[in-house]
Amino acid sequence: MLSRTVSNVARQATRVRAFSSQAAAVSPASQKYIDLEDRYGAHNYSPLPVVLSRGEGVYMWDVDGKKYYDFLAAYSAVNQGHCHPRILEAMTAQAGRLALTSRAFYNDVLGEYERYACELFGYDRLLPMNTGVEGGETAIKLARKWGYMVKKIPEDQAVVIFAKNNFWGRTLAAVSASNDPLSFKNYGPLLPGFRSVDYDDLPALEAAFKADPNICAFMVEPIQGEAGVILPTDGYLKAVRALCDKYNVLFIADEVQTGLCRTGRMPDVLILGKALSGGMYPVSAVLTSHEVMNTITPGTHGSTYGGNPLASAVATAALKVLVDENLAENSARMGEKLRAGLRGFESTGLVADVRGRGLLNALQIKPKGDVDAWEICLRLRDRGLLAKPTHNNTIRFAPPLVINDQQMDECINIIGDVLHTV
Ligand SMILES: *Cc1c(COP(=O)(O)O)cnc(C)c1O
Repeated sequence: MLSRTVSNVARQATRVRAFSSQAAAVSPASQKYIDLEDRYGAHNYSPLPVVLSRGEGVYMWDVDGKKYYDFLAAYSAVNQGHCHPRILEAMTAQAGRLALTSRAFYNDVLGEYERYACELFGYDRLLPMNTGVEGGETAIKLARKWGYMVKKIPEDQAVVIFAKNNFWGRTLAAVSASNDPLSFKNYGPLLPGFRSVDYDDLPALEAAFKADPNICAFMVEPIQGEAGVILPTDGYLKAVRALCDKYNVLFIADEVQTGLCRTGRMPDVLILGKALSGGMYPVSAVLTSHEVMNTITPGTHGSTYGGNPLASAVATAALKVLVDENLAENSARMGEKLRAGLRGFESTGLVADVRGRGLLNALQIKPKGDVDAWEICLRLRDRGLLAKPTHNNTIRFAPPLVINDQQMDECINIIGDVLHTV
């Protein structure tokens, strides 16, 4: 998301470049919608020039009826595929019965959802929120509160450590944790009590833990998504778990994008969002132990929409789809296939790196003349495959997890054709 938010100046530059590219032309019907957003919206994104109006499974269609493979899946929010019939059915049924009560009252959906998610992920309790960034905020509030009430850190001295190049959203706390000037510049003063160490650097983490007894938590993405799909060395997360135990620090895993645990051992605090609703509705959650969650008491945290019946029904259905359709297994298998296919294109001289786990993958482009990651994404669009560049000429390839063998073969062919014709 960092890469999608650029200053006006950078955005203008992108647009000029986009429109000078032969691949960038769009239809008059598309241009109408692009112009509307351009005129009436905030310029806080620089979308690829394509205007979408329908989605189903791994496909999306633009306003002219052209069909595309979705190789972004809304930054891993649409893992279950667009408009999954089971999630849609749960959503429309619940929307027609009861959508929002606020937490001033109980409802007959939330408790079942909490129990299902706690049992599925192996936690004691769940705190429902809406967006991923609210999940992160909640996790940090829990960690600070646990720090004061359980670890006995002196008042207002709690420190949270983050991994450098983290991305967890756009609130003031999230940008205070960021080391990307695009995220934090001109939004100060920023929140105190945040520090960072390099991702995948265990000695640095241990040195930080050793130097300060007031650390309540270390928050990290198992795989850094927005930073460009950066994977840690094997064993890193297990070692983080051990260090957190040794120094009595909570291990917070931001799995809003990575989804299911890859951590070897479970974190103390798990943040979920994005695909928790299969793209239907903003639903996030923080899962943790009794010890941590019970620091929260009535009136000390909350959200009007958090835990509403509609969200609870949608999230329960979205989780059941992941389980019932074996999407973790399919993701692992399709990911192997995709990375093997991409590595086959190294002879084009355009491939600097291929990396990923499951269907969260990155193709890093070595630019050739004018052809960089943005230009390749435009050419992929013209061939019916949508993906978006992120930092350092990296293209993220993260289709919905429901993609099948034949569809993946076709997508690998499209990518190969585009790379070979540069
Ligand atoms: C997208 C993302 C978030 C923020 O989620 P929002 O729903 O956009 O607030 C947090 N953490 C990670 C790792 C993400 O990828």
